[in-house]
Formats: sequence, C-alpha cells, structure tokens
Amino acid sequence: MLNWLKKQVSSKKTLEEKMYVIVLIVGTFINLLSFIITCIEHLGAITVCCTFLCFCTMALFWYLSVAKGMEKQLRAPLMIVIVFGLVTIAWFCCGGVRSGMILYAIGSLFLIVPCIRDVKRRIILFSVCLLWLMAVVAFSVFVRPDLVIALTYTEWYLDVIVSLPICSVGIYLITSLVVNEYETERKNKEKLLSELETLSKVDPLTKLYNRRELFNRIDPEAEFEKNDDRYLLMLDIDFFKKINDTYGHLFGDHVLSKLGVVLIQNRDEENGEFAARYGGEEFVVVFCCKDGKEAEDRAEKIRQGIYDAKFSEEPDLHISVSGGLVRLCDYQNITEALSGADGLLYHAKHNGKNQIIGGLQ
Ligand code: GH3
Ligand code: MG
Ligand code: MG
Repeated sequence: MLNWLKKQVSSKKTLEEKMYVIVLIVGTFINLLSFIITCIEHLGAITVCCTFLCFCTMALFWYLSVAKGMEKQLRAPLMIVIVFGLVTIAWFCCGGVRSGMILYAIGSLFLIVPCIRDVKRRIILFSVCLLWLMAVVAFSVFVRPDLVIALTYTEWYLDVIVSLPICSVGIYLITSLVVNEYETERKNKEKLLSELETLSKVDPLTKLYNRRELFNRIDPEAEFEKNDDRYLLMLDIDFFKKINDTYGHLFGDHVLSKLGVVLIQNRDEENGEFAARYGGEEFVVVFCCKDGKEAEDRAEKIRQGIYDAKFSEEPDLHISVSGGLVRLCDYQNITEALSGADGLLYHAKHNGKNQIIGGLQ
C-alpha cells in the first residue's frame, strides 16, 4: 500500500503535480480518520454523515485526477471544494471555534501555496478563501452560534489533541517535500551547468580545450608583457589524410584522442599551462619555460611522446607531427603569435615533416 502510494507521487514530474497528489492522498486519509473519530466520539448522525461526505468528496477527486487524468482541471476546484465545502461543513458539524477545526482551516489555506503555481491565481484564491473562512468563523460565533454542533468540554480538548498532530504532520510532510524537491532541483541544475560549462570548453574527442577556450584563456585583445615566460607550440599531424584513408576515419579519431592524452600528460595545468585542439588535426600547447633552450626541449619531448605513442591495433605505426614554437612575448598578442607559429609549422612541413622549428630570438 505504502509503495503504491509512493509510486503515485514519484511518477509525477513537477513539484506542483507531486504536491497535488500528496494533498489528495493526505486529504483523503485525514477525512477518513476524522470520519472514524466522529463515529467513535458519538458526535451524532449529522456530523458522521458530513465527515463521511467529506471523505467521499476527497476520494472522488483522487479517483478523477489520477484514474481519469483530470489533474490539471481539478487542481483549483479541489482547493475551492476543500475550503468552501469540506472545511465549512466540518466547521459547523464538528464544533466550530470550540474544537480543533481552526487547525484544519489553517491547513486548508496552506495547501493553496504548493498546489497553485501561478502567483496571481494563488494570491487571488488564497485571499478569497481566507476571507471566506474569516466570514464563516464570524458568522458561526456572532450570527448563528446555534448552527454549530457543540462539543462537550472534554470532546473539545480531545479534538484539539487529535487535530494538532494530524495537521502539523500534514504541514510538516508537505513542507519537507517542497524543501527536498527544491534541493534536488538545485543540485541537478548545478550539475547540468557544470556539464554545460565543460561541454562549452572541452573538445569531446580529445578532451583538450577547444579553440574558443584558447581565446578565453588568452584574450586576443590583450598585449603580452615583456617578461611573459609562456611559449606557444602549434602542431599538425603529418600525413593525416593518408592515415584516414588507410585505416579509416574511426581509427583517425582514435589517433586524435591518443594525441590528446599525450598533450594532457605534457602540460602542467596548475602552472597555467594548457593544450587545445585548434582545428581538425591541429593543436596548440601553451607552456611556461625559463628560456628558449628549455622550451625547445619540452617541444621536442612532446613530439617524441607523440611519435612513441603505441596503437594496439597497429603496433608498427608511428604518428609524427610537425610544429612551430614561439615565445609569446616576442609578439604583440595571441593572434600574431599564432600566425608566427603557423608560419614556422609551414616551414617544418616543407623541411621534411616530423620536426619542430622554433622561432626563438
Ligand atoms: P600534412 O602532413 O601536410 O599535414 O598532410 P595531411 O594529410 O595531414 O593534411 P592536412 O593537415 O590538411 O589534414 C587534414 C585532414 O584531417 C583532413 C581531414 O579529413 C582530417 N580530419 C580533420 N578532422 C578530423 C577528425 O575529427 N577525425 C578524423 N578522422 N579526421 C579528421
Ligand atoms: Mg592540418
Ligand atoms: Mg596534417
């Protein structure tokens, strides 16, 4: 039974839908409970009939909403029926002010908040219902107190003792659900945002930063300072068309992702170094070195690392790259540095490939 009820709630997508089903379930059980209590308390035929009618109304709404799929159309009418019908009838039948009914009245007003999402409709419905209940209380106290079925002193206190946990647990459950739901939604949103952020920065095939992130990290407008110790290495795979043609594009993709692994292993992210996929099979690595000699050694280590990378499908295959190496501060900005490195890469290709040419002064 409990599992079936849980399923009814968890099958709903939005908080509003979940709340509505909870209100139906909790409302039906509360009314069933108050019907049983009125029977036990011997409050008279009218009171027993009224509480039974309230229970049947809630059960009918539950049936029509869940089984007949009329949930959306019945949400506002249910609130109206609860306040104008059930609570009002119960107010007169179950003791009015001298009972626990005031707690149910507050509870019924509270239900409007999570069940009606539209702010304007919620405010209007809440105000109308509040005014109505105030009028009912005033009418039953000042105009026709004789219409209220009076409880004895003991019944009055017993009723309050029973109503207090019913209403407070109901409000507690609904508030908890809202808070939990909000927390889950917030966490999902945060996760989604961080996934989107990664997707917007990282190339999915090589796991290297994409071209956009390269320009995020080095602003094209910014001029380099003269003591900037960063170097830029631009790489292009040699004979990549042939690799694709010989082994297929899927294998070509595998080569690109392997190259990504080598470049990631050869950069120190904590030191501001990074590698990016600049184009199809062109890459840029930015790293820090104290002088040109050290930079040339690092570039050579990267080239060799790529050449040594092993492919289990083709154990004898070696991938070579050609590259151009520049020191960033020898140029005005990143656009000029890239163009400088591209020129050197072009020379490396024409010089026989599988080499890095450094334009370091
Ligand atoms: P070179 O040695 O002069 O660089 O010759 P190359 O054959 O490598 O020529 P180029 O640099 O122009 O190679 C570009 C090729 O890279 C063409 C394109 O089919 C391939 N390519 C680009 N992006 C991808 C990709 O994501 N996957 C695969 N498999 N191939 C790609
Ligand atoms: Mg190319
Ligand atoms: Mg190439």
